[in-house]
Amino acid sequence: MHRKLHSYLIKTGLESRHLLQFSHEPNTFAYNTIIRIHSTSSCPVHALTLFSRMRRAGVSFDHFTFPPLLKSCARLRTGQELHSLIFKLGVDSHVHVQNALINLYGCCGHVSTAMKLFEEMLERDLVTWSILTGSFVNNGLWREALELFQEMQLLGKVKPDEVMMLSVISAVSNLAALELGKWVEVYIFRNGFELTVSLGTALIDMFSRCGSVDHSIKVFDEMPERNIATWTALINGLAVHGQSREALRVFNEMKKSGFRPDHMTFNAVLVACSHGGLIDEGLEIFKSMKLEYGIEPRLEQYGCMVDLLGRAGLIQEALNFVERMPIRPNVIVWRTLLGACVNYNRLDSAEKVKERINEVDPHHDGDQVLLSNAYGVVGRWFEKAGVRNSMKERRINKKPGCSLLIVDEIVHEFVSGDDSQDHELKPVKEFIVSTIDSLRVAGYTPSVTNVLHDIEEEEKEYNLGFHSEKLAVGFSLFYFKERRTIRIMNNLRICHDCHRFMKHVSSKFCVEIVVRDRNRFHHFIEGNCSCKDYW
Ligand code: ZN
Ligand code: ZN
Repeated sequence: MHRKLHSYLIKTGLESRHLLQFSHEPNTFAYNTIIRIHSTSSCPVHALTLFSRMRRAGVSFDHFTFPPLLKSCARLRTGQELHSLIFKLGVDSHVHVQNALINLYGCCGHVSTAMKLFEEMLERDLVTWSILTGSFVNNGLWREALELFQEMQLLGKVKPDEVMMLSVISAVSNLAALELGKWVEVYIFRNGFELTVSLGTALIDMFSRCGSVDHSIKVFDEMPERNIATWTALINGLAVHGQSREALRVFNEMKKSGFRPDHMTFNAVLVACSHGGLIDEGLEIFKSMKLEYGIEPRLEQYGCMVDLLGRAGLIQEALNFVERMPIRPNVIVWRTLLGACVNYNRLDSAEKVKERINEVDPHHDGDQVLLSNAYGVVGRWFEKAGVRNSMKERRINKKPGCSLLIVDEIVHEFVSGDDSQDHELKPVKEFIVSTIDSLRVAGYTPSVTNVLHDIEEEEKEYNLGFHSEKLAVGFSLFYFKERRTIRIMNNLRICHDCHRFMKHVSSKFCVEIVVRDRNRFHHFIEGNCSCKDYW
């Protein structure tokens, strides 16, 4: 293949299969080149078509054929059957082919096979380590990703590159492990990495997801170059940490610096307005999307606006807003509205919204739980039981609450309602019960409105004691008395009772508690929360 033509093809994205028709008997090299072009194009499936054509035409393939072919397969999440062919041809010992196979298995979710291939390899290069780390991250195996990175460090044969560091950062972000995050940052500087836009942006996001937006600001200030994603990461970090005014300030500064906000930026800044109860600012910004920037709002931004109005208790306005939306509201928009109705005890509207949700998505469980909670709030246990039964019939189960507590880089996991006889957890439970008792003096009474089951009062209180975030806090207070900051990551939204409990605990024990729940962060200090009880 002619070099000039090759680069022309890449530039124009021309239907390069036609190129083969120019040459009467395309050889292996020609096929390999075009397969490689397609492996990074918008149509990776063409690489596979070409490969079958290559086979039919009897053109032989070599170890250069497979890496791009496997890459295309990985993007399409298919093609593991190629492995046996590769094995038969005996090209499976080439490191590039092996790397591509590991990547393919990782992308298809077969991590154990990827690991097996990795372990069998005689020679591993940086790409090998990087690919497996990335596969772990993409499959939610964050601890394993960090362990692998550590193992690579210990062997000391290869040095990580930026791609690898981005995987490591992503793993740390997902674990919300602040200490590890700080370590990663130091590592990056010690090892002479440049603070590129992508590394810096990933660090900003990581620190905010680890609960320290102050670190995000520091990284942001140190970055020599920024793009719109960098600004958005900071605005988003400030937003989820309840620093709404600051988020707006950064948003304005960004506009002054000549950056054009995109959909993601608008999401972040609207979330800031919504969490901070900044109604006028939010409406203004929403309007500016189209008027100032010519950006058509998408469902997410409409969702943000419904959230903004709903959180502020403007239920009728939120309903009107949804009715007037130029695009069909999806179930998330309706659920946001339902959440607002429930929070403000507007059960009449809640029922109407619930009907609309049933039309859009009759099998969703989240709103069933919300509605069930709503009935709980007003004590209509009878109706509530009805909702629970229909849930049971449809085999919808509430996801169990789960919290992670990280102390000295060790991750402790807690599950709500854990009734195991775990010897470590037993004294913690007793400790929580006695803490609840002592908090009563300070005006804390366990509230039962968020408990789903219709059970005796006493039993309800008991159950409330063991939501996973309470277990995590209790564990930390009991076993790590010296800790002044407790960091917890929750899979669900924190309930009202746990929220009140955390506030009381923060003042009684003089600790700072940082809880990352599904939507945002809560910083509990001296009896108050950064969300201003608005989440
Ligand atoms: Zn709770
Ligand atoms: Zn809060």
